[in-house]
Amino acid sequence: MNIEKIIKNAVLSQEAYPVEETVCRIKLDANENPYPLPPGLKHMILERLEAVPLNRYPAPGSPGLRRDFARYYGVDEDMVLIGNGSDELIHILLTAVNPRLSGSVMFPTPTFAMYGITALNSGHDIIEVPLDDRLELDIDAMLDIISDKKPPITFLSYPNNPTGKCFGRDDIEKILEASSGLVVLDEAYFNFSGKTFLRDLDRWDNLVILRTLSKVGLAALRLGILIGHPLLVHHLNKVRLPYNVNIFSQVVGSLFVEHSGDFLELTDKIISNRKWLFDKLMAIEGINPYPSDANFILFSCFMEKDDVYGQLVDRGVLVKSFTSPDILKNCMRVTVGTEEENREFIETLKVVVHGE
Ligand code: PMP
Repeated sequence: MNIEKIIKNAVLSQEAYPVEETVCRIKLDANENPYPLPPGLKHMILERLEAVPLNRYPAPGSPGLRRDFARYYGVDEDMVLIGNGSDELIHILLTAVNPRLSGSVMFPTPTFAMYGITALNSGHDIIEVPLDDRLELDIDAMLDIISDKKPPITFLSYPNNPTGKCFGRDDIEKILEASSGLVVLDEAYFNFSGKTFLRDLDRWDNLVILRTLSKVGLAALRLGILIGHPLLVHHLNKVRLPYNVNIFSQVVGSLFVEHSGDFLELTDKIISNRKWLFDKLMAIEGINPYPSDANFILFSCFMEKDDVYGQLVDRGVLVKSFTSPDILKNCMRVTVGTEEENREFIETLKVVVHGE
C-alpha cells in the first residue's frame, strides 16, 4: 500500500507540533505552573480518587463538571463544553465548522501553533495576519479580510502566546462586531492577566471563550472548558467523543471548583515572580523583554539566538526558541518559574551572553 496516497496533502506537508524532548534540570519551556500542589490538596485528591469505579466508563459529556464550571463562571450549563485540554476543544470546533465555506480560518501570527495545525488537519485553509512591529493586531488588515472573505472562525489568544500581552479590547470588539463567523477568545492565561470577555457573552452570539486548568497547576489532567452560545455547544457535543474526559480528571476538576481559592494561591506568586524576572531581564545589556500578561516572557537577544539557546541547554536550562516567523527570529520565551529557577536562569543567561 502507498500510505502517502491516502493521507491528506495538508497532513503530508506539515511538521508535527514541536514538543521539546531535551531533559533539563530547569524546565521553563512549556508555560506550566512550576509549583507542585500543596500536600493538603494532594491528599484530598487521593482520598476522592479512592472511591472511583474503574470498571465503568466515565460519565459522557462530564455532566458534573459542566454544572460545576457553569456555576463557577456564572453562565448557564448549556453554554459549557468540557474537553480533554483546550487543544481538544480547538479540534472539536474545527471539526464542526464547514471547511467548504468560502472563507478560511483566520488568526494573527505569531500565535499558538495549534490553531494552524488543527485547521490544516481538519481540511481548512488558513489566513495568517502578521502582528505589527509593536506586536499588536493589524486591525485594518483583519477587518479587510473579514469583509472580503468572511472567515467562519477566527482565533485570538488573549493574552497572546508567545508574545505575552492581551490585544486591545477595542480591536477585539471591532472583530466581534464585524464577523459573521465565530470569534474564539482563548483565555488560557486568564489567571495571570485578569482580563476576560466572559461578561460579554450576552453582547455577541459569535463569541466563544476557552479556558484551561493547564496553566494553574493541573496540566496533567488535560481539562479545558469552552463557553459559548447554547446552540453552538449543542452541535459541538455531537462532534465530541463520548468519553473524552477520563474519570480522574472529572473528579479532580470538580475538586478544583470546590477549592479554587486554594488552587489559585500559587498564581499570585507567579505574577510577582513575573515582575522580578522582567526587571532582571531588562537589566541585562542586549536582552530586551516584552511586557507580559501571562506566565511567560518573550525576550529578544542581541547574540546569535541558537548559540544562546544551546548554551542554556548545556547548562541545564530549557526555554522555548522560535524558528519562525521573522519577527521572532532573535526571540526566546521563558516560563516564569519558582524563585530559585528564575534566579538560576538569570545567572546562567548572564554568563552565556556576557561571560559574567
Ligand atoms: N491555548 C493557548 C494559547 C496555549 O498556549 C495552550 C498551551 N500552551 C493551550 C491553549 C493548550 O492548553 P491545554 O493544555 O488546555 O490543551
